[in-house]
Amino acid sequence: MAVLAMTPEVRELRMRVRDLMDRLVYPNEARLEREDDETEALVKELRAQVRAAGLWAPHIGPEAGGSGRGFVAYAFLNELIGRSAWAPLVFGCQAPDAGNAEILNSFGTPDQRRRWLAPLVAGDVRSFFSMTEPEVSGSDPTGLRTTAVRDGDDWVIDGHKWFSSGAEGAAFGIVMAVTDPDAEPHRRMSQIIVPATTPGVEIVRAIPVLGHRGRGWSTHCEVRYTGVRVPVANTVGEPGDGFRIAQKRLGPGRIHHVMRWLGQMQRAFELMCAYALERQAFGGPLAAKQTVQSWVADSAAEIQACRLLTLDAAARIDQGDEARVEISAVKFYAARVLHDVIDRAVQVHGALGLTDQSPLARMYVDARAARLYDGPDEVHRMVVSRRVLRAFEQGEVWDFAEGGPRGGSGRLKASPPEGGFPGAAGTPG
Ligand SMILES: Cc1cc2nc3c(=O)[nH]c(=O)nc-3n(C[C@H](O)[C@H](O)[C@H](O)COP(=O)(O)OP(=O)(O)OC[C@H]3O[C@@H](n4cnc5c(N)ncnc54)[C@H](O)[C@@H]3O)c2cc1C
Repeated sequence: MAVLAMTPEVRELRMRVRDLMDRLVYPNEARLEREDDETEALVKELRAQVRAAGLWAPHIGPEAGGSGRGFVAYAFLNELIGRSAWAPLVFGCQAPDAGNAEILNSFGTPDQRRRWLAPLVAGDVRSFFSMTEPEVSGSDPTGLRTTAVRDGDDWVIDGHKWFSSGAEGAAFGIVMAVTDPDAEPHRRMSQIIVPATTPGVEIVRAIPVLGHRGRGWSTHCEVRYTGVRVPVANTVGEPGDGFRIAQKRLGPGRIHHVMRWLGQMQRAFELMCAYALERQAFGGPLAAKQTVQSWVADSAAEIQACRLLTLDAAARIDQGDEARVEISAVKFYAARVLHDVIDRAVQVHGALGLTDQSPLARMYVDARAARLYDGPDEVHRMVVSRRVLRAFEQGEVWDFAEGGPRGGSGRLKASPPEGGFPGAAGTPG
């Protein structure tokens, strides 16, 4: 486990973030939730105050226009920002722009950084990430069908995507397309920057998700690309680098999501505890019922486990590690805890928990999607188990302290002591 201390600097930043959440975000949540013209104006106004406070774009470093100080510091701030679905937009660190900024910062050419990264981090434009397709499994992107065919100095892109979050009103997308169908599966794809106004880009519709259509940033769009011509200079990295870069993007993107979920869990937990103490039934508060006490205890333990897993993964990323196992482990584990904690909080609130008088209903809807986006639970479990079992197949063990395989001691294969291990069948009872 990496070192997880909160520095005095981060502690002070958290106080300032908390203050902005109290003053700017919570009192305006109902207005932000309306998603109308007034909302857009309000977001602009609130963003100006976050910028003035020096807390803008905390996911990325000052060299790219943000106020970031690495992943661990961001985890501590983002668990506060994540408490409201709207706060990431107000602080300039919303998905998918944060992940796209990460790609352009790490792999963009100087020209790409100037044209796309700078206005993105400044909050002047939004972007989308266009990978998933309705016709084939998004869990196994080697089967994606969208193509980009080279014609002189251009790519010509044809394909059909969906769940391109935030595409409505975005300035550009990063599109995953097959550029070399004959290459080995993980070298077939490239990531290409596509300005949204390019002829042939059609936002077919914003897909309602659990009944919510969204607007602008909060949409999940179906997009068609028909003969879309963009310069080869819009390729991010080299042609064929699409998967490698997707891994680089999705790793940080996933941990950013989990940090936000930490905020959602803690908010639901606080609502649950406060209401359980207040609401009376059968001669006393709900908090006096053992079932509710178990929910409180289980939630407290699970939330802290998620925090520690997240901070550990963040610390490893700060040290230059890809933290693939740690990120996958916390992605599926935290998605379940997020769901369970919100579900318990809804249950404690009774019918009230499903109404617009509580933030829980909206949180619950968002939590369901968490088990799917950026890879479903099952795929992340596969990543973790594959890596761990590979170590054992090679005669090694999984070293949790180091987060990787370590040469086995040989004891694993030792024959049992005479009479079997203690506790096995035959133990005197
Ligand atoms: C709210 C939301 C926002 C999204 N935003 C974006 C975005 O901005 N850009 C983008 O490109 N995509 C986005 N997605 C798409 C998301 O990444 C995909 O839905 C996800 O990768 C799964 O792909 P799929 O939907 O095609 O499901 P499939 O790949 O068809 O999988 C269906 C189910 O099969 C099961 N499964 C798959 N593989 C395995 C396995 N190995 N073992 C056991 N079971 C398995 C899982 O239960 C999975 O849920 C978003 C999705 C949601 C819900």
